[in-house]
Amino acid sequence: MPLNRLVGWINMKVESQLKRGINMGNSKDYKALAVKIRQHCIRMTNRGKSGHVGSMLSMADILTVLYGKILNVDPENPEWQERDRFILSKGHGGAAVYAALAEKGFFPTEWLDTYYMDNGKLSGHISHHIPGVEFSTGSLGHGLPVAVGMAVAARYAKSGYRIFCMMSDGDCNEGSTWEAIMFAAQHRLDNLTVIIDYNRIQALGHMEDVIEMEPFGKKLEDFGWAVKEIDGHNYDQIEESMRGLPLIKNKPSCILARTVKGKGVSSIENTVSCHYKYISDDKLDEALREVGKLQ
Ligand SMILES: [Mg+2]
Repeated sequence: MPLNRLVGWINMKVESQLKRGINMGNSKDYKALAVKIRQHCIRMTNRGKSGHVGSMLSMADILTVLYGKILNVDPENPEWQERDRFILSKGHGGAAVYAALAEKGFFPTEWLDTYYMDNGKLSGHISHHIPGVEFSTGSLGHGLPVAVGMAVAARYAKSGYRIFCMMSDGDCNEGSTWEAIMFAAQHRLDNLTVIIDYNRIQALGHMEDVIEMEPFGKKLEDFGWAVKEIDGHNYDQIEESMRGLPLIKNKPSCILARTVKGKGVSSIENTVSCHYKYISDDKLDEALREVGKLQ
C-alpha cells in the first residue's frame, strides 16, 4: 500500500475509534439518556395522539447503549461512508430512534414537537429522509433483508463498518426474516448484529397465542447464528453483549434481549393494548415522573 494511502487509512481508523467512544462512561449517563428518550416518546405520542408507545419504551434502554456508546456514527456527518449502519426493522417505534438521534445531535430536539403532526418534520413510522436514519420501515420483515444486503456490500467494499438491526419478536414471525437469517449464516456475515426486542407481545396478542418462537435462542443457533440472551433493561448486560462483536468469528450475531413492553409506566407495562395507545393527558404527568425514577 502506498505510504499516503496507509497514513490515510490509519487516520481514518483513529478517527473512527475516537468517535465510537465519545461519551457515556457509566450507568448514570445511560440512565439520564434513557429517561430523556422515554420522556420524549411519551410526550411525542401524547401530542400526536399516535400509538406504539409501549413498543418504544420496550427498546429505550437498548437504544440508549447503542447511541450512547456502541454505534460509530457522526451527527455532523450523517452520511460518513465508514459509519456503522443501524436499521430499525420495527419501524412503528421510530419515535424512540428520533429521540435518540435528536439527543445525539443529528437534528434539533424541537423537531420532536412536530412528530405525527400535519406538515411536521417526523413521520409516525421511521423515515430515511431524517438525518441519521438509514432505511424506512413499517411493514414487518423488511429490516433484516436490507441489513443483510448492507453487510454483503460492506464486505465487497472491504470496509470495517458494522451493521446493526433492531427487530421485534413480531418481526421474527415473517418469512422474509428467516430467508435473511439463512442467507446471513451461509455467507458468514459476522459484520452483522441483530438485536431482538423480545417482549413477547405483538400488535394483537401474546406470542404464545400467535406464533411461539421458543426455544428462540436455540432455533437461531441451529440456523447458524451466534446468540447471547440478556436482560434488555440492564445497561451492563447490554453493553457487555455488544463489546467485542462478533460474538463468534464467521457467524452473524444475535442479541436476544428480554424486555418488558411499556417498560417504566406501570399502568401499561406488559399489556397488549399499549401497542396501539398513547398516554392520555390525565396520566401524562404521572407517567413522566415514573420513567424518571427508572434504574
Ligand atoms: Mg414484541
